[in-house]
Amino acid sequence: MAALVLKPGREKSLLRRHPWIFSGAVEHVEGGPQAGETVDLMSTAGQFLARAAYSPQSQIRARVWTFRDEPIEPAFFRRRIRGALEVRARIEASSASPASDPESRRGAAAADGARLIYAESDGLPGIIVDRYADMLIMQCLTAGADGWRETLADLLLVETGIKTIFERSEADVRQLEGLPPRAGILRDSGSASSPDPRSFGVVISECGLKFQVDVAHGHKTGFYLDQRLNRQRLRELAHDRQVLDCFCYTGGFALNALVGGASSVLALDSSASAISLARHNLALNNLPADLVEFQEADVFARLRKLRDEARTFDLIVLDPPRFAPTAAHAEKAARAYKDINLLAFKLLRPGGTLVTFSCSGGIDAALFQKIVASAALDAGVDAQILEHLSQSPDHPIALNFPESAYLKGLVIVKQSASQA
Ligand code: SAH
Repeated sequence: MAALVLKPGREKSLLRRHPWIFSGAVEHVEGGPQAGETVDLMSTAGQFLARAAYSPQSQIRARVWTFRDEPIEPAFFRRRIRGALEVRARIEASSASPASDPESRRGAAAADGARLIYAESDGLPGIIVDRYADMLIMQCLTAGADGWRETLADLLLVETGIKTIFERSEADVRQLEGLPPRAGILRDSGSASSPDPRSFGVVISECGLKFQVDVAHGHKTGFYLDQRLNRQRLRELAHDRQVLDCFCYTGGFALNALVGGASSVLALDSSASAISLARHNLALNNLPADLVEFQEADVFARLRKLRDEARTFDLIVLDPPRFAPTAAHAEKAARAYKDINLLAFKLLRPGGTLVTFSCSGGIDAALFQKIVASAALDAGVDAQILEHLSQSPDHPIALNFPESAYLKGLVIVKQSASQA
C-alpha cells in the first residue's frame, strides 16, 4: 500500500485522533499514489498511525478514514453509514422522549429534513448527505470522497431505503482538491412519475411548516438544516414582537416568527431567488401573509436606512453568510460582524432581543462573543447574553475535530429603560 511518511514529531495530532495531515507534515510519499487513493500514514520510525485518503493538490494532504489497521472497502463504508444513521435515530428518539416538552416533541417528530452524514464528524471526511423528504442530496467534496461516490450511492440506497439521490458536489473546497464541480441525479430508482428535482425541488416539513427546497440551485444542499432547533427557539421568542429577520434566505426564521405570533415581520435578503422562494413558502403555509414583508435588499445598506428612518424592532435575527471561511479571513469578517451587530443594537428597542449568528469556521465562539460585545459598546448599549445556541444535533461535533463546531449563536437582551 502507498504511504505518507511524516516528519519527526508530526504524528502528534494523529495520536490525538485529529483526522487531517497538512502538506508541511509529510516527509515523503511512497508508492506513487493517485488522488483519492487510500494511503497509510506512517511515523518516521515506521509505526502505522492511520489509513487515509490522499489529496495531492490540497494543503490538507490526507484525511483519515480510520485509525485502525482495517481495509477501506465497501463494508467499511457500510459500517460508517450505519453508525451515522444510528446516531440520527437516537437524536430523533431522544427528542421524542417524554422528558422534552410536547411542543418540541411534535416539532422533532414532524421534521423530514435532516443531515444524515456530516463528514469528519461521522468518520467520513469529505462526505455530506442530507435527507429532504424522499430524496437524498450527496456532496463529495474531496478526492477521497469522490473516488467512492458510486459505492456510497449504492450503499445509501440500501441503508436508507430512499430511492432518489441528487448530487451537489460543487462547493469551493473541490477546487482546492483539483476537482471540477458536479451536480445532477446520481440515482433514481423511484417511480416513473417522480418529479425531476432540477425543476421541481422537494417540499419538506419542519415543525408543522412546509418549505420548498431548491435542491439543484439552493445554498448548501438547498436548506439550512443546521438552524432547525434555533428556528424553533425563535418561534418561542416571537410572540407579539415586531421582528426583523436579516439574511432571511427562503424564510426559515421569518415563517417561524409568524407561527410564534409575531405582530409583524420584515425579512431581508439580497438574493432575488431566495426572496421569491420565501414568498412561495409563505403561500404554502396557512399564515397571516399581511403581517410579513419579504424585501430584496443588501442588509448592510438597509440597516443604515432603517436607522436613519428611526425604525425600531423588538426582535432582530442576524444570520449572515460565512464571512470568514478560514482564520485568514477573520479580520475583515470581524469588521462585517461588528457592523451589522452594532446597527442591530441601535435598531433594537430597550428590552428587545437580538438573536445573532456566525457560521464562520474562521471565527470561534470566544472571538464572536468579543465582536458582539464590542458592537454593543460602540452602540452605547448594555446587554446580557441569555443563551448560547449551536448547530442542530444532526450536525454533531466530533471531540477530536473541533473544526466541526462552526455555528455559534447568541440570544442577547438589550437593557430596558427601567434598568438604565
Ligand atoms: N437564515 C437563513 C439562512 C441564511 S444564509 C435560514 O435559516 O434559512 C445567508 C443569506 O444571506 C443568504 O440567503 C444570502 O443570499 C444572504 N446574503 C448574503 N449577503 C447578503 C447581503 N449583503 N445582504 C442581504 N443578504 C445577503
